[in-house]
Formats: sequence, C-alpha cells, structure tokens
Amino acid sequence: MIIDHHNHVWEGESTGGFLDESMSVGRILREMDQAGVDMCGVCTVAQAIDNDYVVKAQREHPDRLFGYCMVNPRMPGARDTLKKYLDLGLKGLKLHPRLHGYQLGDLGMIAPLMELCREYKVPMFSHGGSEENDHPFYFEEIARAFPDVTVILGHMCALNYCDDAILVASRNENIYLDTSTAELFSLKAALKKVGASRIMMSTDWPGNDFRMELLKVRIATEGDDEAYRLIAGGNYERILKGY
Ligand SMILES: [Zn+2]
Repeated sequence: MIIDHHNHVWEGESTGGFLDESMSVGRILREMDQAGVDMCGVCTVAQAIDNDYVVKAQREHPDRLFGYCMVNPRMPGARDTLKKYLDLGLKGLKLHPRLHGYQLGDLGMIAPLMELCREYKVPMFSHGGSEENDHPFYFEEIARAFPDVTVILGHMCALNYCDDAILVASRNENIYLDTSTAELFSLKAALKKVGASRIMMSTDWPGNDFRMELLKVRIATEGDDEAYRLIAGGNYERILKGY
C-alpha cells in the first residue's frame, strides 16, 4: 500500500499567494488516483487553521485520508483543542513553529501537547528546517523527553539542516524523517545512516507532485524493494496501527 503522510487540504476564500491554488479534498483524491497513491495523511494549512475540514475529509474518505490536528501552542486552550480533535478521530498532532512564531524546543509550551500524544498513542509531526524555530536539535530535545512518542521531522529539515536531521534521527529511535523537499542525495544519506524503517514518503501536496516524490523514493531505493515498501507506506501502516 502506498501511503504519503504529509499533505494539506483546505477550502476557503482565496487569501492570495500560496492559498490561491485549490487544495480541496476532491482535487487531492484525483491526483492520488493519477499517481497510484492509496492513502494520504492530511492537515490544514498553518496560515488559516481549519481542522474541521480535515475531520470531514477523514470521515468521508476513511480508506483514503487520515488527518493530523494542527495546533498553535501559543493560543489559549491549545491542549483542549488538540484533545477535542483527537477525540473526533484525528490521528496525530501537527505543528508549524516557524509560521506560528515559537521554538519547538520550548518544552513548557510543547510538553502538554506531547503528553496527549502519548496518551492517545499518536505521532507528533512538525515542520522542520529553520534555525530559530524548528532546528533538528529541538526535535531531539522533544524526542528525548518523550521517548515513547513518535516524532516526525518534517522535510528532513531541508534545505539547510538535513545533515543535522539525519544525525538526530540516527541516535533517537523515535525520530522519523519525512522526505518532502529533501534532495535525492540527502535521502540516500538518510538511508545509509538511519535506515529505511524510519523514513516516510511525503509529498507536501499541493506544493509538490506525488509522481515526483514516488520517483525520488524509487530512485533512492533502487535494487532494494523492501526499502521502497517501507518508505512508500509500510512504516506509516505500522504507526497508524498505534505502533
Ligand atoms: Zn507541509
């Protein structure tokens, strides 16, 4: 089964720029079919949080879509918001420290959310890549404070911090790397140093195309069908079962 865990759906008034393009459920399903992707993890956009649309998407297409709950931990009631959406069936927490203006390593802010992830046995998945907000070492602090929670490092912290992302994944068993935006050579390096069992195909649709991401994973794993199977879905199948 091909599972791509990192994508966005959103439906609302155009706000210009990135949000001008349609990110509807109908469109992602069409493009998944075109590329042969069986299931996608989806979350809202950080710029205009709409978790209700994600819940609706998951309920209407439970065999194709599973949702993360996006929370801005700086907002009052963030923990209650996460609890509400996990109770509604969403499958994990999504954070975007850079766009929401905080440090992922701020445990006082993040720990209450991580405690819920532990209680509900769901992963924490964050955007990664900026030095100030979501550097790989912040992921490591969280992963060490919560060794029993799966921590997914978005974009493998591309483009500037892939090496550090691979380093922290290599020494923390609960850190997984997300392939979106990462260069082919970074993916190959991650395969060597971390192994296929903690890397997950991630397109970050609609920013990228499923066919390109699948091809990148296919080329990186050439000659190793088991590595392809794990990265293109096998690893996330394990996580969805509650690891
Ligand atoms: Zn994304």
